[in-house]
Amino acid sequence: MKTLIIGEVVDNKLSSGALEIVTKANDLGLDYEIVTVGSEESPNIGSESFKNTYIKCSENKLSLGSVADKLKNIIEENTISLVLAPSTYVGRDLIAFLSVDFKSSQVSNVINFEIEGESVITSNSINGGESEYNSKISSPNKFLLIRPKSFEEAALDLNTNFETVEITSEDPEVFDIFIEEKTGPQLEDSKIVISAGRGMVDSENLSLVQDLASKLNAAIGGTRAIVDAGWMPYSQQVGQTGKTVKPDVYIALGISGATQHQVGMKDSKYIIAVNKDEEAPIFQIADLGLVADTLSIVPKITENL
Ligand SMILES: Cc1cc2nc3c(=O)[nH]c(=O)nc-3n(C[C@H](O)[C@H](O)[C@H](O)COP(=O)(O)OP(=O)(O)OC[C@H]3O[C@@H](n4cnc5c(N)ncnc54)[C@H](O)[C@@H]3O)c2cc1C
Repeated sequence: MKTLIIGEVVDNKLSSGALEIVTKANDLGLDYEIVTVGSEESPNIGSESFKNTYIKCSENKLSLGSVADKLKNIIEENTISLVLAPSTYVGRDLIAFLSVDFKSSQVSNVINFEIEGESVITSNSINGGESEYNSKISSPNKFLLIRPKSFEEAALDLNTNFETVEITSEDPEVFDIFIEEKTGPQLEDSKIVISAGRGMVDSENLSLVQDLASKLNAAIGGTRAIVDAGWMPYSQQVGQTGKTVKPDVYIALGISGATQHQVGMKDSKYIIAVNKDEEAPIFQIADLGLVADTLSIVPKITENL
């Protein structure tokens, strides 16, 4: 089945979402190419193992409408029937344009898929990860949005071997860009993630989490409850309406373990939870549970590392 994967440029490299989809495409032996969207000069998005077309946009334009037009041409010229995009802001916008162009519904929140003849069978996560449903797509054009971390990232030596198509358009101009400053390990790629919940009692106590994270070179996340309370920016929220993480170790400090939080971290390899309530749902998925007061135990752990 001829397939197109939509990639993005993140930190001058092919996005992890695209590399995760590459793993699945390789497993299924799909005949695929990649189209990557970005504004950097010469990012590392190429590889000897697939064709990559770089749609280079101007930083100062909101060009997704024009990018979608370009993608439509590529899909038609190459008779592509399956389009796979990571469920990011860019992926969601592009798939929305394309599904209208091709009059074919997109299938969202896909966590796995298989090919059955000319059809695609998907598994989709719903109700905050509590349930799954399967769908069968038999339309000529199939548009799937893949949930982050559904597959392992393909390990590839990326290079600058790709074809570039520049977009020049009359799209709306961007007159100001605010880029949130990121320091330390990032949630999406860190091997250890430490998340805080309301059980850290007060925003000032997040310094205890920071001290522990510094010792472990860990990224810091949080629950929606503390993000809503203004203790942490939304970019650090883990869960259904935040980020999905899959680190080797996830440490949950004072987190009850609501399903909406679990959906963003339950696939971590090893989960450690600290909560003073032994009935807290987080203990049902924890590999190691400490029934303890966060404020006294966290500094002790840090001290002993
Ligand atoms: C549509 C929707 C989407 C949502 N999306 C998300 C999401 O993306 N991410 C997310 O996290 N939530 C999300 N939520 C909210 C979610 O349902 C929970 O309300 C939230 O996760 C609870 O956060 P919490 O664990 O910090 O707080 P609480 O549920 O209040 O839990 C605090 C925990 O800390 C423990 N505790 C208190 N004091 C101490 C102490 N001193 N020492 C040790 N333990 C202590 C308590 O026993 C308790 O278990 C969503 C909700 C909805 C309806």
